[in-house]
Amino acid sequence: MGSYAIKVISVDKVTHDVLHIVTEKPKGYEFTPGQATNVAIKKSGWEEESRPFTFTSRPDDAQLEFVIKMYPDHEGVTHELRNLKPDDQLLIDEPWGAIEYQGTGLFVAGGAGITPFISIFRTLHAAGKLSGNRLLFGNKRQRDIIMEKELRQWLGDDFVNVLSDEKVDGMAHGFMDEKLIKENRVGSKVYVCGPPPMMDAVGDALKKMKVADEDVVTEEF
Ligand SMILES: Cc1cc2nc3c(=O)[nH]c(=O)nc-3n(C[C@H](O)[C@H](O)[C@H](O)COP(=O)(O)OP(=O)(O)OC[C@H]3O[C@@H](n4cnc5c(N)ncnc54)[C@H](O)[C@@H]3O)c2cc1C
Repeated sequence: MGSYAIKVISVDKVTHDVLHIVTEKPKGYEFTPGQATNVAIKKSGWEEESRPFTFTSRPDDAQLEFVIKMYPDHEGVTHELRNLKPDDQLLIDEPWGAIEYQGTGLFVAGGAGITPFISIFRTLHAAGKLSGNRLLFGNKRQRDIIMEKELRQWLGDDFVNVLSDEKVDGMAHGFMDEKLIKENRVGSKVYVCGPPPMMDAVGDALKKMKVADEDVVTEEF
C-alpha cells in the first residue's frame, strides 16, 4: 500500500464536536464516492496510529475533505485531531471501503455514519442525478446534525431527521425502526452506515421487511 504525506489547508468545526478538515490531494490520487482511507497524524508518537476516515469531497475536487467526529472522553486520534492546524501533515493510504452508489434508494445514517453519503450526495447533486434518493438521518440532538444546511439544500423534503434525545418540530422522535424505514423507503437500494446499535436495529428491520441482501449496501463505523 502506498502512503502519502498531505498538508492540511484548513480546519473548522461543523458542529460542537465535528471537524471539517481540508487537505492537499496527492497527484493522481483517485477514490470512489463513499470510500475511506487510513489516516494518521504526522507527528511524533501518532504516525503508527491510523484510523479509517471517509472522503467527503468529490473525486474531481482539487483537494481532499474529511468530516470527523471527535471523542474527547479518551485520548485517541480524534481527540488529538482537535490540535490540528493548517500546514500540519496527515498520512493517508490508498482508498478502500464497502459503500458505493448502486442506484436510487433510502440512505440510513447514524451520526458520523453520514460521511460516505456526503461524497455520494455531493457527486450526484453536481451531476443533477440526486432525485429519487432519500436520507433518514439519526442523531441524539439537533445540534449533532452534521451539515444540516447542505443536506437540506441538496435533498429538500427527502431529508428526514430522527432525534433520540430531543423533540423538535418537523423531526421524528425516537430510534431508527421498521416503521420509519417502511414509511421512507424509496428506490430499490438501502444504504446503511452508523454505529453498531443502529446497524443492528436497521439490519433486523430490513430482515423483517424481507429486503434482499444484494439490495443492502452497508458499512459499520
Ligand atoms: C470505513 C470507516 C470509515 C469511517 N469514516 C469516518 C469519518 O469519515 N468520520 C468519522 O468521524 N468517523 C469515521 N469512522 C469512525 C472512526 O474511524 C472512529 O471514530 C475512529 O477510529 C476513532 O478513533 P479514536 O482513536 O479517537 O478512538 P479509538 O481509541 O480508536 O476508539 C474507537 C471507539 O471506541 C470508543 N472508545 C474507546 N475507548 C474509549 C474510552 N476510553 N472512552 C470512551 N470511548 C472509548 C469510542 O466510541 C471510539 O469511537 C469510520 C470508520 C470506518 C470503519
